[in-house]
Amino acid sequence: MRSRYSAYLLKNENYLLKSWHESTRPDSLDLKDDSTQWEKLKIISASETTVHFVAYFTQDTLNKDKIYALIENSNFIKEKNWQYLDGEDVKTVQLTKNMPCPCLSGKKFKRCCATDL
Ligand SMILES: [Zn+2]
Repeated sequence: MRSRYSAYLLKNENYLLKSWHESTRPDSLDLKDDSTQWEKLKIISASETTVHFVAYFTQDTLNKDKIYALIENSNFIKEKNWQYLDGEDVKTVQLTKNMPCPCLSGKKFKRCCATDL
């Protein structure tokens, strides 16, 4: 999971495709022109086969002064290596200072994950 996050950061399409289960893997992935700037990954909870996470990002094509959160439950399956299967409850939220932090800490965003973004 963290390695796939890093791969998105580095726009390493080969790694992302290699770690994607063949049943759900796209034919190709082109992140060259993707303006997403990944800022931080926070794991909310994890079991052997699922990871519930928030990934904070900015994006020029959206409002570049705003921070967004991608919230997802990722499912993984073990073949030779762990592979990404799919994502459930996938949401993208535009964050504001006073909203509850999407990492579910119970604190306001500005007093939680915003402090080290
Ligand atoms: Zn937080």
